[in-house]
Amino acid sequence: MTYDHQNIFAKILRSELPYSTIFEDNEVLAFLDIAPQAPIHVLVIPKGEYKSFDDFTANASIEVVGRFFSRVSKIARDLDLAESGYRIIANTGDDGCQEVPHFHIHICGGKKLGRMLPG
Ligand code: 5GP
Repeated sequence: MTYDHQNIFAKILRSELPYSTIFEDNEVLAFLDIAPQAPIHVLVIPKGEYKSFDDFTANASIEVVGRFFSRVSKIARDLDLAESGYRIIANTGDDGCQEVPHFHIHICGGKKLGRMLPG
């Protein structure tokens, strides 16, 4: 499957859709999830065209991957989540119920999140 340039996060990266920025640099954009599942729910995406966690970690350089996850932890820290705790999620592929085919990390926090998986 090739990268879909019409996916929602590609449109956000091109500023074709509105979004609320939490953090941005030359490699990473973080913004509020439109349908938050926790009091704090932020999405962090690389600006590069990667379809999934699998694609990103297989095809981006180790430096880009390392800087990305370093940003994720800094964003969580800057949101004051480090002490109270939080969860990061990377839904991947069909069984992972990934809806948007541009790699993203969810940062969820602001309350006790309960069981990791339903059921
Ligand atoms: P996934 O299921 O792919 O891991 O998560 C996709 C996430 O993108 C969902 O949590 C969904 O609420 C969020 N989302 C979908 N469309 C938009 C949008 O247009 N703007 C923003 N900010 N988030 C979106």
